[in-house]
Amino acid sequence: MNVYDSQRIASILEKLGFSATSSQPQADIVIFNTCHIREKAAEKVFSDLGRAELIKQERAEQGLDTIIGVCGCVVQAEDEQIAKRAPFVDFATGPLTYHRLPEILARIGHQKGQPIIDTEFPVESKFDYLPDHQASGACSYLAIQEGCNNFCTYCVVPYTRGVETSRPVDEIIKEAKRLVADGSCELNLLGQNVNSYHGEDNNGKERNLAYLLRQLNEIDGLERIRYTTSYPADVDDDLIACHKDMKKLMPYLHLPIQSGSDSILKAMNRRHTSGDYLKVIDKLRSANPDLGFSSDFIVGFPGETDADFQATLDVVNSVKYIQAFSFKYSRRAGTPAALMPNQVEEKVKKERLDILQDLLFSYQLKFNKESVGKVMPVLFDMKGRHKGQLIGRTPYMQNLHAELGKECLNKIINVKITDATTNSLSGIREE
Ligand code: SAH
Ligand code: SF4
Repeated sequence: MNVYDSQRIASILEKLGFSATSSQPQADIVIFNTCHIREKAAEKVFSDLGRAELIKQERAEQGLDTIIGVCGCVVQAEDEQIAKRAPFVDFATGPLTYHRLPEILARIGHQKGQPIIDTEFPVESKFDYLPDHQASGACSYLAIQEGCNNFCTYCVVPYTRGVETSRPVDEIIKEAKRLVADGSCELNLLGQNVNSYHGEDNNGKERNLAYLLRQLNEIDGLERIRYTTSYPADVDDDLIACHKDMKKLMPYLHLPIQSGSDSILKAMNRRHTSGDYLKVIDKLRSANPDLGFSSDFIVGFPGETDADFQATLDVVNSVKYIQAFSFKYSRRAGTPAALMPNQVEEKVKKERLDILQDLLFSYQLKFNKESVGKVMPVLFDMKGRHKGQLIGRTPYMQNLHAELGKECLNKIINVKITDATTNSLSGIREE
């Protein structure tokens, strides 16, 4: 979601006459788009800001002004900390108010020396104000839903991204058509709980994600559709049916369980047990036996015992994820879990994370190795590190590199997989 927000921030600035530079000392404006989900991510911004201040000083010696801004969830949660720890910041705006950047930048001109901080939860939708943005290549992100009402006890999202809202169907279709006309053939629909989507159609009727997917399926030139991240309790039968018959829907689904232990899931305030989750996986597999799954996991949530952790490993052994993201529980101020008494020791968290990741990687490697010899359609959207090499993604989101000419960039090419490691595949063009 932050990548998508950054692209939209870039298009606001382009409309104002700025262009992107990859060299920070050349930048007249430097914006950090920040993540608050875990402590490490949130802390990183303060060290990055320190470096940016030094560059700002060096530029000032050459008579150049630099505006330093912070966007994203850290601003929403830690606006006072930013003002205190980085007083040289010119502006800070949360994830729901960055459409106000033109006004903020104009005010900086008049209000030198005083940071402008905007952390309001606005009544207007930023999407009504953002200028159109260009496709980011063959694969584009498209935000369809934002915010969350689930209040998992460890998570900051409901506090930083606000209540759950869905964009209207027509607005999304229009943006999708524009991105496709602009060169994208794959769209990844985004939302903190993307499958809780309930946007209105033109008649004011609420529609679900399955309805939206079927509308998008009709767009000529759009070849691949993905959506992320889904909440297990909100996977409905309509959505499962899409995985049975919608050819454009990729056979890869990110469906986070967090923990395999029912008592931990309850303490996390998740609306599913591990049994409910496995039932959803079964239904999806019955609809499409070729589906591959990924998940997020948190180890060391307060009160997690060895038996709870074992239940997580049991789920992994049952689902056999083809990819996964796993984290040590991070205590976030303001969330209920931060105040729970039975916090798990750092050492135990680390041990459990190592064990879990070894298991997850073993399944990932197994899946990748089983791909060897198969022919898969691969969308190549990046140049490789070596000359004559392109990097792309299989339907299962595996990274693949192949020796191919530039003419294959941004195209879907059939590739025979020749080799596999845990993190990538290689292959040759299948004529
Ligand atoms: N809405 C999605 C997840 C969005 S947050 C869902 O419910 O599955 C992305 C991931 O960050 C979560 O799935 C979770 O695994 C991780 N996460 C969130 N808060 C965390 C915390 N306090 N400590 C560690 N990981 C956390
Ligand atoms: Fe956070 Fe996801 Fe839970 Fe919402 S459902 S509170 S985004 S982990």
